[in-house]
Amino acid sequence: MVEIDLDEETDRWQWRCPAGHRSWEPTNYHFWCAQCARGKHPKAEPEFDELRNVKTGDLVERDEVELVRDSESYHSLRGGKA
Ligand SMILES: [Zn+2]
Repeated sequence: MVEIDLDEETDRWQWRCPAGHRSWEPTNYHFWCAQCARGKHPKAEPEFDELRNVKTGDLVERDEVELVRDSESYHSLRGGKA
């Protein structure tokens, strides 16, 4: 399981859409990229299944990603240590 803190830009920005944008958002079952949706890349799909880590080259699917948005859930995911 990969954890991405959406409030932490350095954490979030390691992860890119297939076209390399940072403007992705999680949906229930996929990811969605605002830049791709604007159609600058004709072959790019705005919805995609895997995020790519620019540092490691890893690909992770939506169901492998735990998205964390606020500090409360962040701490609870860390085993309750505040
Ligand atoms: Zn994109």
